[in-house]
Amino acid sequence: MQSYPGADGPVVKPQEPLKAYTTFKIGGPARFFVHATAEDEFRAALSLAAQHSLPLFVLGGGSNILVSDRGFAGVVVHPVRRGIEILHEDAESAISEVNAAEAWDDVVRYAVEQNSWGIENLSHIPGQAGAALVQNIGAYGQQVSDVLESVQVMEVTTGALRVLSTSDCGFGYRRSIFNTTARGNFIIVKLTLRLAKHARPNLDYPDVRAYFSERSVEQPSLAEIRQAIITIRDRKFPYPREERGGNVGSFFMNLSLTEREYARLQVNIERDFSSRELARLEEIRKGFPSGDKIRIPTAFLIEICGLKGHRIGGAQVNELQPLVLLNQGGATAQDVIALAKHVRRTVHARTGMAISIEPELVGFTKQEIADSNYLEEG
Ligand SMILES: Cc1cc2nc3c(=O)[nH]c(=O)nc-3n(C[C@H](O)[C@H](O)[C@H](O)COP(=O)(O)OP(=O)(O)OC[C@H]3O[C@@H](n4cnc5c(N)ncnc54)[C@H](O)[C@@H]3O)c2cc1C
Repeated sequence: MQSYPGADGPVVKPQEPLKAYTTFKIGGPARFFVHATAEDEFRAALSLAAQHSLPLFVLGGGSNILVSDRGFAGVVVHPVRRGIEILHEDAESAISEVNAAEAWDDVVRYAVEQNSWGIENLSHIPGQAGAALVQNIGAYGQQVSDVLESVQVMEVTTGALRVLSTSDCGFGYRRSIFNTTARGNFIIVKLTLRLAKHARPNLDYPDVRAYFSERSVEQPSLAEIRQAIITIRDRKFPYPREERGGNVGSFFMNLSLTEREYARLQVNIERDFSSRELARLEEIRKGFPSGDKIRIPTAFLIEICGLKGHRIGGAQVNELQPLVLLNQGGATAQDVIALAKHVRRTVHARTGMAISIEPELVGFTKQEIADSNYLEEG
C-alpha cells in the first residue's frame, strides 16, 4: 500500500482499511487516512478534504461507530497525541488538561491514583478522551459533562482554535452539540477537567450497591469503587477483545419515558406477556434512580422479546447483556444492520417502544440510514 507524507505534513495513507481501527472489527477502507499528532496536522487533513471536496471524519478509538462494508469515501483524521497534565490542585479540586487522544480509561486510572473524585464510575469505558464528550459518556450515575471545565476545539471550516465552556456543549443523555447541532463542525483537541479532592461516592446503582453489600463494605475507597465498576462491567460488557467478540458496547440506548409512555408500556406488557414480566417491569421502575423521567433498560425489553442470542450471519445479540451486538467472527456491517433492524422491529411490534441505536453509522448512505430506522416490517 502506498503511503506518503505531505510537503512537511503528516503521513497520509490512501485506501487504509478501517476494520483494525474499530472495536467491532468491521468496515471497509478510508479514501485517505491521516494520523494527526499536532494542530498543523489536523489542518493538513482539513486541507486535503477541501482540496478533493471530500467529507471529513474524526476517528478516535473506534468504539462507538459501525463502518460500512464499503468504507468511508472521504478523509479520516485520527488524533494520536496523548498526555495528561495537572494545571492546578488545592484542597477542594484538581484541574487537569487532557489531550484528545489520551485513552479515557487511563484518565480515570490516573484520577483515582491522584485521589481525585468524579469519574471513577466511568472506569473501563473504551475510547479516547476527546470522543468521551461527543456522546457525553455516562455509566453508573456519572457522566463526563459533570466534571468538564472547558474544551479546546478546532473549527473544521477555518482551522481556527476555540475554547468552549461546558454550557456551550449542550450536554444531555448521550448527546452534545458534537453529535447533534454542530455534528462534524469541530475537532476536539484537548479538554480541561475539574475533579473533587473530597470523597463524593455515587453508589446508587443497584449493581454497585449489591457489590458492596455482598462484601460488607460500607465506605469504599476510590480504588475499591473503580475495581467494583471494572468487575461489574466485565461480567456484562465484553471489553473488546478478539476472543470475546468485537462490539461497541451498548448498541441500543436505554429508554427515558414520561408517565404516559410508561403507562402505555405497562398496558402492552400486560397484553403480550405474562404477569411475571409485568412484575419485573414494576420492580425495575422501583429499583432505578429516577428524576422526572422513568429510565427503562432496553436490555429488559430485548430479553423478554426472546432475542438474546439471536444471530444473523456473523452478528449476534449478546446472551449476557442483550444491549450489546457481537461480531462473532466475520460479521459484515450488513449483518449488524440486519440484526439491529430485527431487534428494533420486534421490540416495537411487541412492546410499542421505538428504541434508538447508539453508535454512529459511518460511510452509509442517507437512504441506508433511513431504512435502518424504519420500524414497520418491510
Ligand atoms: C465494551 C464497551 C463498553 C462501552 N461502555 C460505554 C458506557 O458505559 N457508556 C458510554 O457512554 N459509552 C460506552 N461505550 C461507547 C464508547 O466507548 C464511547 O462512546 C467512547 O467515548 C467512544 O470513544 P472512541 O474514541 O472510541 O470514539 P469513536 O468511536 O472513534 O468516535 C465516536 C464519535 O466521536 C467522534 N470523535 C472522536 N474523536 C473526536 C474528536 N477528537 N473530535 C471530534 N469528534 C470526535 C467521531 O467522529 C464519532 O462521531 C462502550 C463501548 C464499548 C466497546
